[in-house]
Parts: sequence; C-alpha cells; structure tokens
Amino acid sequence: MELWSRRKFFLTSLAGTAIASANKLFGRTMPGGDSVPALANITSAAATGKRPLIISSANGLHALDKGMDILKKGGDTLDAVVAAVTIVEDDPNDDSVGYGGLPNEEGEVELDASVMHGPTHRAGSVAGVRRIKNVSRLAQTVMEKTNHVMIVGDGARRFGAAEGFEEMNLLTEHSRKIWLAWKAKSSMNWRPGIDSPEWKEYVSALFGNDEEKIAYAERVIAHPPTGTIPCMAVDSNGDISATTTTSGLAWKIPGRVGDSPIIGAGCCVDNEVGAAGSTGKGEENIKISGGHTIIEMMRKGMVPVDACLEAMGRIAHNYKNDKKKLGTFHIYFYALNKDGVHGAASLWRNGYEKSKRAAYAVHDGSEARLAECRSYFDEAGGDQ
Ligand code: ASP
Repeated sequence: MELWSRRKFFLTSLAGTAIASANKLFGRTMPGGDSVPALANITSAAATGKRPLIISSANGLHALDKGMDILKKGGDTLDAVVAAVTIVEDDPNDDSVGYGGLPNEEGEVELDASVMHGPTHRAGSVAGVRRIKNVSRLAQTVMEKTNHVMIVGDGARRFGAAEGFEEMNLLTEHSRKIWLAWKAKSSMNWRPGIDSPEWKEYVSALFGNDEEKIAYAERVIAHPPTGTIPCMAVDSNGDISATTTTSGLAWKIPGRVGDSPIIGAGCCVDNEVGAAGSTGKGEENIKISGGHTIIEMMRKGMVPVDACLEAMGRIAHNYKNDKKKLGTFHIYFYALNKDGVHGAASLWRNGYEKSKRAAYAVHDGSEARLAECRSYFDEAGGDQ
C-alpha cells in the first residue's frame, strides 16, 4: 500500500516539464538549456556529510560565522542558529526579517518565528508579534520558560515585555516610505494614485530622486515580496536544532500568519533524522506540511535535496503542475540530515532576482559559502 501510493505520487507530481527535476531525483544529468547564468563560486549540495554544519537561506551568508563559532566551541545547536539569525533580525537593511521588515497593510511590522531543539524534543513559536525585533529568541523563550508551544499577537508582545524584551518601532524610514508609496499606489485616498500625473513626482520626492530606490519600491509594490531566514545546525555529536524567523508577506492583512512559525511547516527537527525549513509563499507550504514531509522522506532514506524536491512536487501537484498558476509564487525548501549532508530545492531556477540562480548559505567549518538550490522547474519564474 505504501509503495503503491508513493509510486502514484511520484508519477503524478513529476508530470510535464518537472521531468527535468525527476531526472535529478533519479540521479541522471540534466539536459542543457541553462538560460539563467550561475552565480560565481556557487557549489552543489553536499553528497557526503560534514559536522558541525550550519545552513540558512542565502540572506544569512554573513551570519553563519557566528553560529559556527558557537558550534566549534561545543555550544548548543539552538543557541548557534538563534545567534546567527539574530544578526539578520537586527539588520535594518534586510527588509524581510525583524527590524526594517516590510509592514502589513496598516504599516505595522508583524513578525513570526519558531524554534525546535532536537536533543530535548521541544519547540517554541510566536506569530503576529509587533514591536519586538528578536522573535527567534522570543520563540526560544516560549520554549524554555513556558509549558506552551505557540503564543500569538498581543499576548506574545506582552509575554516578551514581561521577559525583558525591549519594545521598539520596527519600521525604518526606508520601509515606512515604501509602505507610503504602496498606499499611494493601491488606495484611492492616500493620494496621489497611480493614475495621477503627480505619481512620479510624489514617489521621486519620497525617495530623494534616487532612481535605484524608486525602482526597488516599484518592484516590491507590484510584487509583494516574501522573505525569511530559516537556519539549521547539526553539531559534532549529531544533535540538531533549527529556527525560522520572518516579517512574512509584505502588505499582508493584519494578523496573517505564514508558515515560519508553524512547527512542521516552516521549521521541523527530529534529532534522529535532521532538520528542514522554508522560505517563500508560506500558504503553499502549510498546505503540505513541508517541514514534516521532508523529515519523513529523510527518515525513509532520501538525501536532503531529494526530500526537498519531493515536498516541492506535492506543491506542484496541488496545481496539477500548471506553470501559469505556480508562476504566481516562489518557494524554497532547505534541509540537513544527522550526518551533516545538506541540500535545498527551489520551485523555480532563479532566486529573488530572476537572472540569478537560487542559492542557500552553508558553513561546514572553513568559511560560509553559497550552494546551489536544485530547481523543480528548469526555467526562471515565480512572482515575488
Ligand atoms: N514564508 C514566509 C511567509 O509566508 C515568507 C517568506 O519566506 O518569504 O510568511
């Protein structure tokens, strides 16, 4: 029964042009046609493992040294991953995570985060948190100081305040201005609208005539971005932890929660098996319990990259592999196993910029580097 249903799943989910990815799954070389240039220095997923190991989405490249230092000194894997993502949460220039994250439609930054600690089989999570920037540490505090797993909204903020977390305005001037430009474009009332001859002048004044900033604002207004950092680590003893932290989807309805704080979707650890995380359109991940799916595939013997592709196949299957529908979003899965083998998969070949290959960050002892995500579809795509 199990064999039959797995086979049926493979046959349905790998239909159409996803065949290229199927070829990778079964160990064959991909046909050519690489229209998207590869990043320089990008390496491939590890075939053999190395410990200690820490990986994250590409936006964590500069933060993995911190986590690796902790692992090398024999520190706890959860402390390592939280320390790494805290650097990104603190960074006002990363507008997908923590301080400076793009806000909801009312201009409030709302953050989501989760943690899982493999050795003690514990988890913690927070969602829709306002005014506290280090929500991965807040999720860790939920895990360590309460007998709950998840606290949301104002309750999470008040819990954080009681635990000594500083409250602050999470909107930077930069993200506030992009929000204002979004309001001007999407609202009849926050003038001038897109149909107004003053639109260009209004936006130019908002960004001090900086063409690059204007182009960026126009892009994120037209294509509300998602962005997140999942980070996972295995130490030299084989103990594993993970965290995922995000400001979620830009311009979301207040209270919208994505996959990042959902244990088993945006973050999943089993100390006997490995860890998994995700970035991109969280709703699609929640519907397939992606993190849990990847862990279960690795438990059955799949290497991380194949387990990630299997989860991706389930998302594609939900849309009957219709590339037009799937092209309305992008999503990535990242995983490592207990032996220190790592891998990641992206629905489309490109990363945030359509011209670049999707990549993730890896540090296995010497220095942090980018590794290539295996793509489910061969072409560039995915609105974000
Ligand atoms: N997955 C996150 C969410 O849906 C956003 C992202 O990763 O970009 O909230």
